[in-house]
Amino acid sequence: MQGMRVHISGIVQGVGFRPFVYGLADRLKLRGWVKNTSAGVEIEVDGERDVLDTFINLLREEAPPLSRIDDLTVSIRPVNRFTSFDIVHSEAVEGAFQPISPDVSICEDCLRELFDPDDRRYRYPFINCTNCGPRFTIIQDIPYDRPTPTMAPFDMCPACEREYTDPRDRRFHAQPVACPECGPQVWLESTDGSKEAVTGMNAIDRARELLRQGKILAVKGLGGFHLACDATNAMAVLELRNRTLRVDKPFALMMPDLETVKRHALLNRPEGELLLSPARPIVLLRRRSESGIAHEVAPKQDWIGVMLPYTPLHHLLLEKAERIPEVLVMTSGNLSEEPIATGNEEARLRLSKLADAFLMHDREIHIRCDDSVVRVFDKQIYPIRRSRGYAPFPVKLPWNAPPLLAAGSELKNTFCITNQGYAFLSHHVGDMENYETLKSFEEGVAHFERLFRVRPQALACDLHPNYLATRFAQERSEREGIPLISVQHHHAHIAACMAEHRLDEPVIGASFDGTGYGEDGAIWGGEFLVAGFKDCRRAAHLEYFPLPGGDAAIKRPARTALALLWSLGLDWEDTLPPVQEFCAEDRTILRTQLEKRINTPDTSSMGRLFDAAAALAGVRQKVNYEGQAAIEFEALVDPTEKGGYHFELDGSQIRMRGAVEAMMQDVFAGIPSSRISARFHNGLAEMVRKITEKISAETGIRKVILSGGVWQNITLLGRTLSLLRDGGVQVYIHQEVPPNDGGLSLGQAVIAAARLRG
Ligand code: ZN
Ligand code: ZN
Ligand code: FE
Repeated sequence: MQGMRVHISGIVQGVGFRPFVYGLADRLKLRGWVKNTSAGVEIEVDGERDVLDTFINLLREEAPPLSRIDDLTVSIRPVNRFTSFDIVHSEAVEGAFQPISPDVSICEDCLRELFDPDDRRYRYPFINCTNCGPRFTIIQDIPYDRPTPTMAPFDMCPACEREYTDPRDRRFHAQPVACPECGPQVWLESTDGSKEAVTGMNAIDRARELLRQGKILAVKGLGGFHLACDATNAMAVLELRNRTLRVDKPFALMMPDLETVKRHALLNRPEGELLLSPARPIVLLRRRSESGIAHEVAPKQDWIGVMLPYTPLHHLLLEKAERIPEVLVMTSGNLSEEPIATGNEEARLRLSKLADAFLMHDREIHIRCDDSVVRVFDKQIYPIRRSRGYAPFPVKLPWNAPPLLAAGSELKNTFCITNQGYAFLSHHVGDMENYETLKSFEEGVAHFERLFRVRPQALACDLHPNYLATRFAQERSEREGIPLISVQHHHAHIAACMAEHRLDEPVIGASFDGTGYGEDGAIWGGEFLVAGFKDCRRAAHLEYFPLPGGDAAIKRPARTALALLWSLGLDWEDTLPPVQEFCAEDRTILRTQLEKRINTPDTSSMGRLFDAAAALAGVRQKVNYEGQAAIEFEALVDPTEKGGYHFELDGSQIRMRGAVEAMMQDVFAGIPSSRISARFHNGLAEMVRKITEKISAETGIRKVILSGGVWQNITLLGRTLSLLRDGGVQVYIHQEVPPNDGGLSLGQAVIAAARLRG
């Protein structure tokens, strides 16, 4: 006999770990105890040596599905002569921290009970257990098993209490455990306060009826409110667009099951697996042409964003029945640009003009969390927005970092906090363009610092002096007297991808992006960098062209196109689509602006080159959201076209004149835009191959990273990847964080950490 102490860290709380240990000890007839601490799980047992070995092996092998063991240490102790095995009280350890589970979609067991008329939680919209339900959005502190404030108003009934305290029960210490007797309730209320509220199943039935009639519903979810309507009803979808002021931006969809998804979209195996994964992200799928989903859901796109129900309430709302909509628009409950609404009062204030009724409940949301968006590329997950279901799952770093806060970007903001070997990347905060979002950012930062026990010793931010996130970091740095490390935008993109793959060595990075402040004050975005974590060198970039109005040009691809032609010395021929956008007078004004260089910063942005190309091809002259022209241009690609426009490398400048001129000739010759688009994409892919080959020959580096928002274009990504792989270099793309600015804070954090290490 001997005693043994085990410490386990990783995601081990709120995922059924202690009951699992209890069951295992019971099976092996071991005695001792298990407890949660703020550093993880501690176990102490007495037993025969070989039984203890088996115990350790099985701890790893049979750990609960939602857990992740990062570290397991064993120390031999004197025998304690325990008489039983117990789950003992949790303990807070000063300064200790651990990762926290993201929110988890409803599990199979709970789903079965939800639709079992004999179960006491039959049709109860808040059914959950240790294996499923809200985590991140309701947690306020660790260790996790303290009563969470969001559940505090609900006193457990005796039946729930029994389940909660029985280590053999699936609901042992499941924080949000509840039932119709004692837990949160759902109700429907009208937005004008005119009608009496209905509750329980009546509320859900009534909500379904309203959706059938084409009404718009605000539905309270896990991380905030959704706005829902029947996705097959074009009038309803248009009405939703009008009310939310979202012009063309695609809406996400929710469908009851995979079978329904297959009827509306093409689906391969990895896509199906992602849809069903516990994170339940929105997965971008190719729409079937025969689908009855209104085109207004995602105008001019062949991709639709689809998710499956992830809460019991969703399952009840989408339960299949005659004449009930089988596809719902489920878009975040906000006015365009504002953060998603979370509180009931807040929703009444902000959403009452957007929705016809509220499907409300009284379980509070502690932290706002939007749905995540992913796609499958090359059979792998390729994140577009990393939020609910993934945050605050950490990225494991190649080395330990000091406690840091990286403030992130202006658009699609996330922030990142490091502690030891972890980088905790936040949920999606959004576009930092208004007070509401800044407030949400500050609350998020405070929450993460408390949760992960971080007092930042340094701050990291973008080089751009006017980003709200940058200004936040500057102010805090001055206030607290801690160092501020500014990081170039495109270096951060490349470093984020390096961190994911734990590549601590020089790489060639192709950072293709919409925007980003360059070291010379120009707007960068078509960059080839030779980068390590600490620093980087700009090896090649698109030649500069003037951007009339600076970043405001994002909205006007036609202007960008004319500016590009002007700078390349190409004429504004009357028959070119972007030229036709302007009257003679406006053309003169624009020409004067360019000649006199009035508010026309230089740019090497690949995103703006895409805008210009889409405008020249006649695809789009004005856009309603960033990247729209490029997205529609990509959607046109003719896959059979093999030709490509030719980009020339001249020193460190990528010359565009040849490519743009050839493209103009194609436009004049009446070549279809689908072939022009293909030639443009092919030309860029070939350009990347050529330039990386040259840099590789000069430096001996054989590892290439593709990051930046433009790489969301999977046509370009696919073509570039296959050319690069044929050339024998190793290519790395994102799998954990988005290639767009949503992943930027991770890059800022690792660069700052590397610089502090010296
Ligand atoms: Zn469950
Ligand atoms: Zn109960
Ligand atoms: Fe970027």
